[in-house]
Amino acid sequence: MSDNHHSVVIIGSGPAGLTAALYTARANLNPVIFEGIQPGGQLTITTEVENYPGFEHGIQGPELMDVMRKQVLKFGAKSFFKEITEVDFSKRPFELKSGNETHTADSVIVSTGASAKLLGLESEKKYMGYGVSACATCDGFFFKNQKIIVVGGGDTAMEEATYLTKFASEVTIVHRREGFRASKIMLERAEKNPKIKFELNAVIKEVIGEETMGIKKVTGAILENTQDSSTRKVEVDGIFMAIGHQPNTKLFNGKLDMDETGYLIVKPGSTYTNVEGVFAAGDVADKTYRQAVTAAGTGCMAAIDAQRWLEEKELA
Ligand code: NAP
Repeated sequence: MSDNHHSVVIIGSGPAGLTAALYTARANLNPVIFEGIQPGGQLTITTEVENYPGFEHGIQGPELMDVMRKQVLKFGAKSFFKEITEVDFSKRPFELKSGNETHTADSVIVSTGASAKLLGLESEKKYMGYGVSACATCDGFFFKNQKIIVVGGGDTAMEEATYLTKFASEVTIVHRREGFRASKIMLERAEKNPKIKFELNAVIKEVIGEETMGIKKVTGAILENTQDSSTRKVEVDGIFMAIGHQPNTKLFNGKLDMDETGYLIVKPGSTYTNVEGVFAAGDVADKTYRQAVTAAGTGCMAAIDAQRWLEEKELA
């Protein structure tokens, strides 16, 4: 077989992909990881991670991914800083393209993750990880007794706002209209919470912050009224974007089974997709938990599923 044929190809390099690589490398399957456009995944755009077990004093997101990658490479996995641009699961071995390069694989682990939807403001990008966040579970703890805005009108916004009241002194839900997508029960829970206020018919026009001795910090936001376009400045310490997540599954449209929101469907209790030999791990198949540790857990499951499947088919 050519140098471009692999027993296991892993698409995506967040905790799911790297854990799948760790396990398949230690099973002598010589996995190859295509790291994709965001090597290391979503954790590379966070700062302190305090809920990944094993790090008593916490660890920076980018550093965690860096040590995870080093650990994986130590066991002989190969990593390419390239993106898979096309897949053909109708052929055996599977055919994968990265630009002009063609690779073939006996098995594929899909761990392309999900991306939090963002507003797309320059100032939002600038303060991401410094007061702007897309994950209350990850970052809520840093906002003790502070004022927070949560953007969105769906269940995620209600859930995150309610969760954030454990830490914050005040949480304002900023939503662009008066109607909510959130379920009645979650909306009511937020409405009943004395720490939560609502700012309806409003969008964030700009995130305001300051930089002291190289340390950036959010100090407020400019809100725009969606009905009369008037603007006003509010003082806040944190802004949480809760406007939904987008699984990174465009590449698999029409090739792997997905739910109506684009998440890959796996056989319950496993990482098997509808195509034999293709496994899915991490946020790409999980709209519920979306944690680094759950992604790593399913990455381990995908590696074991792939290994057993390859053995069963006498491909390993
Ligand atoms: P969602 O239901 O799609 O809601 C996204 C919200 O963000 C909507 O209110 C939307 O406003 C707003 N939004 C979208 N783009 C925006 C933009 N550019 N600027 C301002 N606002 C914007 O997403 P989700 O809340 O993440 O929920 C996704 C799915 O997961 C849902 O099925 C939900 O029920 C489920 N979920 C369940 C739970 C639970 O049961 N515990 C918790 C979280 C999520 P518009 O309404 O105006 O479009």
